[in-house]
This record gives sequence, C-alpha cells and structure tokens, in this order.
Amino acid sequence: MHKHHNALGLATTISDAAVSFERGYDIAKHGPVQPVTLIRPHAASRAARFFVEKFPGRSMYAVKANPSPELLQILWDSGITHYDVASLNEVRLVARTLPEATLCFMHPVKAEEAIAQAYFEHNVRTFSLDSIEELEKIERATRGAEDLTLCVRLRVSSEHSKLSLASKFGAAPGETKELLFRTRQVADALGICFHVGSQAMTPEAYSNAMERVRAAIVDAAVTVDVIDVGGGFPSSYPGMEPPPLEHYFETIHRAFESLPVSYSAELWAEPGRALCAEYSSIIVRVEKRRGDELYINDGAYGALFDAAHIGWRFPVELLREPESRAKDVAFSFYGPTCDDLDHMVGPFYLPADVKAGDYIEIGMLGAYGSAMRTAFNGFGSDETIVVTDEPMVSLYERADRQVASNVVKL
Ligand SMILES: *Cc1c(COP(=O)(O)O)cnc(C)c1O
Repeated sequence: MHKHHNALGLATTISDAAVSFERGYDIAKHGPVQPVTLIRPHAASRAARFFVEKFPGRSMYAVKANPSPELLQILWDSGITHYDVASLNEVRLVARTLPEATLCFMHPVKAEEAIAQAYFEHNVRTFSLDSIEELEKIERATRGAEDLTLCVRLRVSSEHSKLSLASKFGAAPGETKELLFRTRQVADALGICFHVGSQAMTPEAYSNAMERVRAAIVDAAVTVDVIDVGGGFPSSYPGMEPPPLEHYFETIHRAFESLPVSYSAELWAEPGRALCAEYSSIIVRVEKRRGDELYINDGAYGALFDAAHIGWRFPVELLREPESRAKDVAFSFYGPTCDDLDHMVGPFYLPADVKAGDYIEIGMLGAYGSAMRTAFNGFGSDETIVVTDEPMVSLYERADRQVASNVVKL
C-alpha cells in the first residue's frame, strides 16, 4: 500500500496488489462501512488506445473529466500526449504529473495572470478564445508572442447532447468573421474549435457543427491550420446507449476532409467522458429502505452529483451472494447528507428484495463522478481499490475482442 495525493489534495490509498476476485472486489471479506471507489486502469488504457488508433487526428484528454494523477499517467502510457486544461491548477497538475505532456489551455475566458504563467512558466502555446477582449488579453499576457496556436471557439448547437454547453461560450455567427480575421494576424497557427455538448447521442452533432465551421471559414476567408472538434463523445448509460464511436470518427473525418482548410491542417478532439467513464465505479451500502427508496451512503455531494442534479442514470448491480432471484423493480436513492437535495431519482433497477445491509455497485462513474466529490456533512470516503474485472458496461470491450480474434485468424 502507498499513500499519495489526488488532484484535490486528499490522501488516497491505492492497494498495490490488484484485487482480482471474480467480481473484482470481495464484499464478504471487506464489508465496507464507507463507500469504496473501484478503479480499472485497463479500461481507461483501452479507451485511450482506441482513440489513439482510431480517431483520424489527435486526441487530447480533457482533464476536468477526471484529474486523478493515476489516470493521467495511464492515459500517457497509452499514447495520449496532449492535455486540454482549463485552469492554472490543471496546468500545474498535468505539468507536475507528466512533465513531457503538451498542454492546451482551452477555456475561452481566462485570467490574464493565468495566461502569463501558463505561457512563461509551463510552456503552454495553445489557447482558445471566443472574443476580441480575450484575444487582447492573450496578446498582453504573452507580450506579443509569435509562437501561439490560437483556437477560436464557435458557438454550436447542443441539440443532440444530453448536457448542453451551448449558452456559455462560443462566438456567435455575427461575431466570427472579425474575430477569425484578427486572430489570424496574431496567431502563428489558427484553429477553430467548438463543443457540441456532453454525451452527444448521434454523429450528426459533429457534422452539423462542421457546417458552422465551413460557413465561418468561407465568410472570413482565412487560412485555418487546426480544426478541433472538442469533446462530447458519449459513453454508455441506461437509456443512453450511443451508436459505435467509429461512426462518430467516420463522420468527423468526412466533414474534415471536405473543409476549405490548408493542406497541412490538423484535426484534433478533446474527449473527456469517453476516455474515463469506464475507469471507475463505486460500491455503496444500503442503510435503510422505505418502499422503493433506498438510503445509500454516497450521493449528490459524493460521486453522484450528476445523478442528483441532472437526473443522470447509471448502471447498478446488487452485490449479494447467493444472487437474488427477485425480479428487478425501479428504485430511487437518497444520499447520506441531511438535506432533501441529496436525492437521485433514477430509476435504478434492482431486485425487488433489496434491503438494508445490501451492497450495490454503481458503474460508469470515472467521468465527472469521481471529480466532483466533496466531504460535505462529514460523508464521503477516499478508499480506492484497483480491480482487474470488466466495467459494468463498455464501449470498447467488443472492439478489443475483435482485435483479439483477428490476431488469432492471422
Ligand atoms: C468539458 C470539455 C471537454 C470534455 O467534454 P466531454 O463531453 O467530457 O468529452 C472538452 N473540451 C472542453 C473545452 C470542455 O469544456
């Protein structure tokens, strides 16, 4: 066992020996009183290799989805060399964890001091912006640097995504011409970026956005060196099962090939969720049952922020030996804190005989879930165990098996 600190400065214990029981974690043996986080390095590594091998351009990891240093290291070891950071603390974290990584500061509204420190102390050369004010900030903060890659963020529709990113950032159609023109004069390389919203359920989200990009390029008549399609690549959740990621990659590739950009133009993406959703899950204990409501020991202020605040659904599984034979019915969850807000409406389908003392695994919490935990009201736990079993759902397992069977055939 060794102690280390995660991005928030909380001490976390990771057991060196992977616990490799059939289910990955032996409930009967541990009987955990606090929620336990299970991490699956192989799942994150597989997702990263998938993007590195199949995305027809460069994949950089959006650090906000899960800033844990272990995960950053796994992604680096799996071929992810570029990191999308949004704050000076993320810049420092990645610079410290992966000194050779390339950092791209992709938050379109930054403190001037943060831009200066990123540029002069951490060698950051790529920045995004969505206004003339931000362009002027970047010019001042870098003292007129001539080695910048500047990506103009366009506002695009979030209509195909489960989580909108359409209102806050992005230049509107009437503003892009002048902004692209002025940015072209400052930038060594000019990029255009956007974000279609998180968990985009169809590749069309990207082809529609690429049409916006085309119109903007034609309108401004500038040479563009980078097209960055942002994040939004989906993962799989109950009721939100997306088409295969290859379809997204093909759609993006086709749209990119037909854009009026320079011959050497690069295609980038900034996946967050898709690289780390499968990386972790939690095990919670049922402390009380009231009809179809289960009181569990993690919630809105723990890893289940999205389940509480935006009604996100996650896969669940009752961990009981022998297995329950009752049929599945819909439950909602209450978390451990003392307020009504700590409520996850679900529905979460579990065997009808769930009772206090049972353990439940809640899957697909590697993206955003783990990153948003707090210690509010004295709840929450840092116990983390490395396991080697499969995540409850995977977009990549099948692709992996296909590769394996191809190898056998050869
Ligand atoms: C949040 C964010 C991402 C990652 O989005 P996902 O939906 O998790 O893939 C990428 N780029 C930017 C600029 C973001 O704000």
